[in-house]
Order: sequence, then structure tokens, then C-alpha cells
Amino acid sequence: MKELIDEKGLRIDGRRVDELRPLKIEVGVLKNADGSSYIEMGKNKIVVAVYGPKEVHPKHQALPDRSVLRCRYHMAPFSTDTRKPPQPSRREIEISKVIREALEPALILEEYPRTAIDVYLEVLQADGGSRCAGITASAVALADAGISMRDMVVACAAGKTSGQVVIDLNDVEDKEGEADMPIAIMPNLNQLTLFQLDGILTPEEFEKAFEMAINACRTIYDAQRKALMDKYFGKAEVGEE
Ligand code: ADP
Repeated sequence: MKELIDEKGLRIDGRRVDELRPLKIEVGVLKNADGSSYIEMGKNKIVVAVYGPKEVHPKHQALPDRSVLRCRYHMAPFSTDTRKPPQPSRREIEISKVIREALEPALILEEYPRTAIDVYLEVLQADGGSRCAGITASAVALADAGISMRDMVVACAAGKTSGQVVIDLNDVEDKEGEADMPIAIMPNLNQLTLFQLDGILTPEEFEKAFEMAINACRTIYDAQRKALMDKYFGKAEVGEE
């Protein structure tokens, strides 16, 4: 097993076990979308575009009592070290579903019967944890589109590398580590909307990883709010609230 934490307790990218990667969120980056966002979480770079609520095509997908949420997570062919074939892979189809299910509980879809809301996630660069960064960015883009929401959704993974519980795994830690546990929460309603665990954790490690991931989500939630405030209330007022 590759050593992913050195004798000083630092990870391969120099972070401590409980340290998040640098985070940047921007709102309203695309002119033609109803709502949009851009996120950098470490080396992940993802653009999200939201269209809707709009007429449903094909029509038979429409529901009489609510809007249909459709998500497409797509990785650009240049987003990984080896060229990724442009057609949707099994992994992308699965992650699209996971993202939809993580976002859906937060949206008041009943307000928009017989419509569709489309969320397009384009991963420009992937470095582990792209589903989490994608969920965080999508919630911001949905808010930017003015979709009624019960709460924001924010996601982060915790896991285990070199025998230690760590937060926000990068690509190498995800692949070479012992466990990866992405979660998403609605931070104000205190509800979980995504929980996955790849690998093995003891009950104690699980408790620790879960708490770390929740705390990380709360930190990322502050960045989501700040990004939205920056756009809608101007940068000067942020920090005075
Ligand atoms: P997540 O990005 O949500 O952690 P995975 O655990 O499936 O999703 O993927 C981990 C990482 O593996 C990705 O973030 C990306 O860096 C890398 N990866 C995914 N698909 C490919 C691919 N087709 N080729 C090379 N690297 C990939």
C-alpha cells in the first residue's frame, strides 16, 4: 500500500487530515442559462448550467403534479490524465442519477407541474470528489435560476488513507486509499441526501469520518452563501451580515 501521509502528518498535497482543498465558487457564469455556477475544489473544475422550469421534451416525460428534474454529469475528454471517451460512460450515467437524487429533496418541484428542470454538469478537470463538487455547484446554480428550494444542498467526501481518517480526498487518495465516503446534506434541515461508502471503515472511523464530512459541508455551505450574496447583494455587503 502506498504511503499517503508522511511522518509530519501531511498528505501528498501538503494538507492536514482535516483540511479541505482550496475552494472557489462563482455564480452566474453563463449568459444563456437560467442559472449557472462554476466551482473549483482543489483541482476539480466544474461548470453547471440550469435550464427551466421549461416545457418537457419528450412530452410523455411530463408529470401532472410536479416538475421533472434531469441531471447530466459529463466529463470533458480532456478532464482526466488519460483521454476520456466523449460518450457517456456507465460511471457518468450512475453519477448523474446520484446527483439528481441528492438534489431532488431540496427542490419544491410541486410548484412547477408539467415542466422540466435540466441541470448540466460539465467537468473540465477531475481530481477526485467531482460528484461532491458537482452537487455543491448544482445547488448554487439552481438557486441562481430562482428555483424554489427548501434548503441548499452541499456535499463533501471523507475517507481513510494510510490508516487515518481524512477529509475531501483527491484523485490519488480516492484510488489508493482504503475508503471514500461522499455525503450530501441539507444544512439547515439537517438531513442527509447522499450517502455512499466505497471501502471499509471501523465503527469508530465511520463516526469520525461522518462528523468530519458534516463539518466540512457546513464550511462549504458558507462559501455557497457567500458566492450567492456576492452576485445578488454585491461584494461590499458580504461579511457585514
Ligand atoms: P468522484 O470524482 O466523485 O470521486 P469517482 O470516485 O468515480 O468519482 O472518481 C474518482 C476520480 O477518478 C475522478 O474524480 C477522476 O479524477 C478520476 N476518473 C474518473 N473517471 C476517469 C477516467 N475515465 N479516466 C481517468 N480518470 C478518471
